[in-house]
Amino acid sequence: MPLLVMKFGGTSVADLDRIKNAARKVQREVERGYDVIVIVSAMSGKTNELVGWVEQTSPLFDAREYDAIVSSGENVTAGLMSLTLQEMGVPARSWQGWQVPINTTAAHSAARFVDIPRDNLDQKFAEGFKVAVVAGFQGVAPDGRITTLGRGGSDTTAVAFAAAFNAERCDIYTDVDGVYTTDPRITSKARKLDRIAFEEMLELASLGAKVLQTRSVELAMRYKVRLRVLSSFEETDDNSGTLICDEDEIMESKVVNGIASSRDEAKITLVTVEDRPGISAAIFAPLADAGVNVDMIVQNISEKDYDDHPGSVTDMTFSVPINQVERAKKAMEEARAAGTISYDELNIDTEVAKVSVVGIGMRSHTGVAAKMFKALADDNVNIKVIATSEIKISVLIDRKYMELAVQALHDAFGLEQA
Ligand code: ASP
Ligand code: MG
Repeated sequence: MPLLVMKFGGTSVADLDRIKNAARKVQREVERGYDVIVIVSAMSGKTNELVGWVEQTSPLFDAREYDAIVSSGENVTAGLMSLTLQEMGVPARSWQGWQVPINTTAAHSAARFVDIPRDNLDQKFAEGFKVAVVAGFQGVAPDGRITTLGRGGSDTTAVAFAAAFNAERCDIYTDVDGVYTTDPRITSKARKLDRIAFEEMLELASLGAKVLQTRSVELAMRYKVRLRVLSSFEETDDNSGTLICDEDEIMESKVVNGIASSRDEAKITLVTVEDRPGISAAIFAPLADAGVNVDMIVQNISEKDYDDHPGSVTDMTFSVPINQVERAKKAMEEARAAGTISYDELNIDTEVAKVSVVGIGMRSHTGVAAKMFKALADDNVNIKVIATSEIKISVLIDRKYMELAVQALHDAFGLEQA
């Protein structure tokens, strides 16, 4: 039997009517001859509520109990989805992570897959069940305790099942109808993409496009799982939504296919640090130890010999998520107090945003950076930090110009037209 994985997010299973609506989509695929593995999230808002209860009960909670509690939202929707399908006459059975089993590492609240043995589900399909409804977001550690995969983790559950069961496709049903060239709330010219390459989606997801958990895209790329994002609130068919696939499957592609933006950024500059071998390690090791996610890094070239600084000195600038500024500052102050680094000033700018253009066409086209910088210059947007990768250029700018910058770049790269 051909097999499909269909994942329904929290808003798609938010109440009994919506579960029924989702179940109808599953029923339709069963009628077309598919065996289906359905992955469900918790009802929308449920996981937040559970996390809140944990934090109120125990601020420094035991991560094993956090997982036991927070994973429970998915158990409810898995059972309800299975019952709803049964009521429609579709042979279905629900599965919690440990029952499959979904074997993960023991890293509670951030577990990773180890393996998903197929035997139990295969046997049920062989017995005539048409649908396995699996609770997303959860698994089981080697010692038998329940684990969770990190927020948004049921996307990753879906892709993992698609890979393990060689699914024809993995459909992610959500509250938007696909992946857009940029956030439609920033510009009404944003266009839904029919297809996007794994690499591009991976960049967009990690740069702040919230439609998929980044790790799910990583996994899809590694195992070449064709992934589709589509709306659970619309009538959909085989061509709906956005297909995330290998670049070989994409005929026509622009140089830039997407623009991501993230307002939760901050910039930190250490002024006059010594310019010597080992200084970067001395700065970034304590940041890493403190769990700070450093993103962009710029070290100025500097040969200046100040009177009070014999030898050469430089400035080091880096960006961090805004909610990690205090942690970063503390790590730097401690390193300075311990004498492993020195600097005259630590400047923090919390009024910045990151805007990035993404496209696999950049590998073979020149002039993308020039075009980007020109478009920003024409709108008088000053660039504070630049970082590039093979298929992406990111700039840090004043946050108040973020929307303007996205709109200007969307126009400059002609993303409105297919
Ligand atoms: N319910 C979990 C969360 O809200 C997992 C998911 O929905 O992907 O993070
Ligand atoms: Mg999600």
